[in-house]
Amino acid sequence: MNVADSELVASILSTNNFKISQDIDNSDIIIFNTCSVRQHAEDRVLGRINNEMSRKQSKKDLKIGVIGCMAQRLGNKLNEYNRNIDFVVGTDQYRNLPEIITNLFENPGFESETIVNNKEIYEDLYPIHSGKFNAFVTIMRGCNNFCSYCIVPYVRGRERSKAIDDILKEIKTIGEKGFKDITLLGQNVNSYNYEGVNFAELLRKVNKIDTIRRIRFITSHPKDLSDEVIKVMSNSEKVCEHLHLALQSGDDEVLKKMNRGYTAEHFYKIVQKLRKAIPEIAITTDVIAGFPGETEEQFQRTYDLMKKIKFDYAFTFKFSPREGTKASKFKDQIPEEIRLERLQKLIKLQEKITLKKYKDQIGKTKEIYVEKVSKKSEDELSGKSRDFKITVFKGDKSLIGDFVNVKITDATGWTLKGKILN
Ligand code: SAM
Ligand code: SF4
Repeated sequence: MNVADSELVASILSTNNFKISQDIDNSDIIIFNTCSVRQHAEDRVLGRINNEMSRKQSKKDLKIGVIGCMAQRLGNKLNEYNRNIDFVVGTDQYRNLPEIITNLFENPGFESETIVNNKEIYEDLYPIHSGKFNAFVTIMRGCNNFCSYCIVPYVRGRERSKAIDDILKEIKTIGEKGFKDITLLGQNVNSYNYEGVNFAELLRKVNKIDTIRRIRFITSHPKDLSDEVIKVMSNSEKVCEHLHLALQSGDDEVLKKMNRGYTAEHFYKIVQKLRKAIPEIAITTDVIAGFPGETEEQFQRTYDLMKKIKFDYAFTFKFSPREGTKASKFKDQIPEEIRLERLQKLIKLQEKITLKKYKDQIGKTKEIYVEKVSKKSEDELSGKSRDFKITVFKGDKSLIGDFVNVKITDATGWTLKGKILN
């Protein structure tokens, strides 16, 4: 989401006579796009901002700004934290950035714009995609789910969907520019709704766009992933065999306290349906360890469910209290060392499962979208399979940007190795 927003901001600024610099030493403006989902993300970016401030000693006119969810959440407080920050702009005010920055060069001081308008969808703007082969397409903004641990609804406002025709036009143009793999983005793509057009219908329409070859989408919410969407996924040749579906917890009481709107059983049934409809599907997930009040037994249920489902990969997090959310006020917070201990148990479990999942690919032939020369060796290329696995194989640089069939011969925890067939 942040990559997509940075690409949007790059577009807003470059259509207003600003230039994107590749060289921080020679930049006149530095903008930090920030995340607020966990305290760790905020701490890291605050450290980065402080580090860059020393540049102001040799370049008095340098402007340093903060945008994104942390800017939205903290607003003017960021300037109290660091007086040298020049501007703070929230998630709905990016259109004002050119004017804000121009004014600051004329009248130095501090500017902040963080009003949530709940309607801004940034239509008519075409992001400057940072990748060469994969492009993000934002189909909706905001979130209405208010999971009790999550800051997103507070910093990104209410859910709104982009016009279907704008989305289709954007994807067609992206495909013409050479990107063959697109990812539709939203906090809960399954609740996409534009004048009665739902997500399944949107997927069907995107599947018909002939300038692209692969479609992915994040994130799906288990309570809204319908049978209709599963059917469209299995019938649409461009929709990749990969789904990210956040479990968060394997215990019903914890899920209820999280306000997730499903049970562990419901989640498991969706996984079964997906695997039946799309046998080659890779399923990845998010899990939180040490949610307030989580008992050893409840944690064990999450562990056991992860062991039973065997996700291809899991993003595991220790619970991070976010000011203003319901869960941050729960009395029964779990001590940090127990949260960490549980997190480590989940990471260890998942490492084993992921390795086995990757080893299971040996002998299979996979279509790979070739993206670049491999980091480790000049004679090897690297690309992604439809089920989102990085695959490395010997091949000529001229194949970059092509689709090739690769027979998998080996696997580490993260990477497949193979031999090109055509
Ligand atoms: N909308 C997506 C969904 O519901 O699947 C998730 C978006 S959230 C930005 C990404 C992940 O961060 C969540 O799935 C959750 O696991 C994790 N997360 C969110 N708030 C958190 C918190 N307070 N502490 C720890 N992890 C958190
Ligand atoms: Fe946060 Fe829940 Fe919305 Fe995802 S669905 S962004 S976890 S509130």
